[in-house]
Amino acid sequence: YQDLTGKVALVTGGSSGIGKATALAYAQQGMRVAIVDINEEQANKVACDINSVGGESIAIRADVSQGDQVAAIISKVVDEFGQLDVAFNNAGIDLENTPLAKVEEDTFDKLMAVNVKGVWLCMKYEIEQMLAQGCGGAIVNTASIGGVIGSPRMPIYGATKHAVVSMTKTAAVEYGRKGIRVNSVCPGVINTEMARQAFARDPRREAIATQAHPIGRLGEAEDVANAVLFLSSTESAFILGHQLMVDGGYTAI
Ligand code: NAD
Repeated sequence: YQDLTGKVALVTGGSSGIGKATALAYAQQGMRVAIVDINEEQANKVACDINSVGGESIAIRADVSQGDQVAAIISKVVDEFGQLDVAFNNAGIDLENTPLAKVEEDTFDKLMAVNVKGVWLCMKYEIEQMLAQGCGGAIVNTASIGGVIGSPRMPIYGATKHAVVSMTKTAAVEYGRKGIRVNSVCPGVINTEMARQAFARDPRREAIATQAHPIGRLGEAEDVANAVLFLSSTESAFILGHQLMVDGGYTAI
């Protein structure tokens, strides 16, 4: 993706799993990358790893559910790199192993704050910056298979990911003419810390999850990173408001 070389990206949830794999993939394309995460130590480590092989990266500690912190992310990226071209809004949490009627209010609020408000706040400030620059940009949001089908035992998580899909479509329609392309990826079950914690909560889940992917394995973070690279590049110039399933055929059944 030659068009990405020299461009500036930010990745939320960039210190682990899908975000980390994507940050490394962006850096390999010659992009300058801000690693945004609530986990400062891990974010610093990813930025150091990129810088140690000649890349250009900074770490920014921020909670994406807090508006002032999200505004500060954009300021820091622009102070450091002068611009923002690509954003991967990927930070998310998954707390449930509960049928809908058993979910606690506090769990509902936490999931909504990070997975919905966090993505909205990031898009809000990223789009403002991209509009001010006047030369478009690409935004990719992490939804999930739970953003397009039901999510048994993860009812609120599924609702948050449907919200991400909705905001992705709306932002694509509203800002397409300004050259800002907004799309999402919908991963199946991906072998990251999040999935490992879910399997720890309910050990039956891993075999069931593997079985549910026609490809016969769980996804790897790099499988998703490859799809995000494509949606970030002008190779996908005519793709807007799309939900790219990266799910080993999970939703094809
Ligand atoms: P992960 O737990 O490895 O990474 C998530 C990262 O987000 C962590 O580094 C965490 O510190 C960060 N984070 C959490 N809350 C934050 C906040 N408030 N502000 C800033 N950073 C925060 O998990 P992952 O699997 O890489 O998940 C990445 C995204 O992919 C999430 O949105 C998740 O919902 C989605 N997803 C994951 C799977 C899967 O099976 N792993 C499937 C579909 C979608």
